[in-house]
Amino acid sequence: MDLNLTREELAFRDELRAWLAANVPKDWKEWREKPIEESFPYLRAWQRKLQEGRWAAVSWPKEYGGRSATLMEQAIFWEEMARVEAPPMANSLGLGLIGPTIIAYGTEAQKKRYIPKILNAEEIWCQGFSEPNAGSDLAGLQMEARLDGDHYVVNGQKVWTSYGWVGDWCELVVRTDASVAKHKGLSVLLVDMKSPGVEVRPLRQMTGESEFNELFFRDVRVPTENILGNVNDGWNVAVSTLMYERGSYGARLHLIFKRAITRLIELSRSVQRNGRPAAQDPLIRQKLAQCSAEIEIMRFNQMRAFSRITVTGVPGPEGSIQKIFWSELNQRLQQIAQELLGPYGQLLGGDPRAVDKGIWSYGYLRTRGNTIEAGTSEVQRNIIGHFVLGLPRSY
Ligand SMILES: Cc1cc2nc3c(=O)[nH]c(=O)nc-3n(C[C@H](O)[C@H](O)[C@H](O)COP(=O)(O)OP(=O)(O)OC[C@H]3O[C@@H](n4cnc5c(N)ncnc54)[C@H](O)[C@@H]3O)c2cc1C
Repeated sequence: MDLNLTREELAFRDELRAWLAANVPKDWKEWREKPIEESFPYLRAWQRKLQEGRWAAVSWPKEYGGRSATLMEQAIFWEEMARVEAPPMANSLGLGLIGPTIIAYGTEAQKKRYIPKILNAEEIWCQGFSEPNAGSDLAGLQMEARLDGDHYVVNGQKVWTSYGWVGDWCELVVRTDASVAKHKGLSVLLVDMKSPGVEVRPLRQMTGESEFNELFFRDVRVPTENILGNVNDGWNVAVSTLMYERGSYGARLHLIFKRAITRLIELSRSVQRNGRPAAQDPLIRQKLAQCSAEIEIMRFNQMRAFSRITVTGVPGPEGSIQKIFWSELNQRLQQIAQELLGPYGQLLGGDPRAVDKGIWSYGYLRTRGNTIEAGTSEVQRNIIGHFVLGLPRSY
């Protein structure tokens, strides 16, 4: 694949650069240290503004509010956003995985109803897949949806639902037929989180935040028209969502990681180790260099994934390579930060001696979840083994 930008891609980049220069809020640095609950309205407003310029989801079709941009242009979008340190968008699950699934499987009426409000962050989405007894084995989920006239009646529990606390809508995987093989009896419902019978409870994480939730559904009535895809074909719809999730995140993360390693290299020049700057310590130097090389490898892997999607039209199991790579790389990066900063790296934000307002202690704790969310590393390796390498299935 040719990695040089074409004339069209350069024009796209320049238009975006000019728009960002005029519109990126100047006060983001003051907001980014605040808890997500506080900064969420700010991120919502920023996404609305991006969509006013039709930038929120550039690769979505024009008729649904995107720009029908190529995946290379989508990658340019994330590079430019990271280059100017723009705030993230509020509706990250709606834009990254649920919107693309609605575009792929939704009826025309569903696309018209849901997509514009995903784009302008008027409606925030969450992903109701995992249950207390069904995470890696998603097909084993038990949440029941019983048909009652023109509604499904939903009962059961979900867990680890990111954005549940602020979600207006949920992509919910439910069991609509318990009499067939477990993969064959699932369906996906689009559920209004304000429906009577939905209860959202916070879960406290080791970072101190409550980014995700438990959801309880008691006799929640969902109109049958809210089914996404066909009845009992929910496994395929849900797997598509997971592939969008695994295939697309690397593009956003590349420059975030790049900024982090650049900062660590900078810190290594001032932090002392055995009486001299850490940058002169051969072990630290090796680790920083290795990590920098891996960040570039991640970028090329992402290009490879984009190149494949351009040919096939949908993300494939190769997204699992990217998912393992970015999540484990992020943990190695945070480990290096701790080795470099020593006890100061453990200080939390709010402590006047914390380095960079505590981002390194936060990062170390938060990245533990990276190898679990969107499917654990073990599960990704099983997918690569079976679907990419053609090895026998693991049970
Ligand atoms: C930060 C974060 C955000 C999340 N957000 C969401 C969300 O928004 N929506 C949502 O639905 N879920 C979400 N999750 C849940 C996540 O998808 C699950 O935690 C994940 O799929 C693992 O499931 P589990 O926790 O039930 O662990 P289990 O599936 O019980 O796994 C336990 C251990 O067994 C291993 N294991 C399981 N099966 C196999 C196998 N076949 N081969 C080898 N090893 C195996 C796993 O790798 C793991 O180490 C989130 C999780 C985190 C950490």
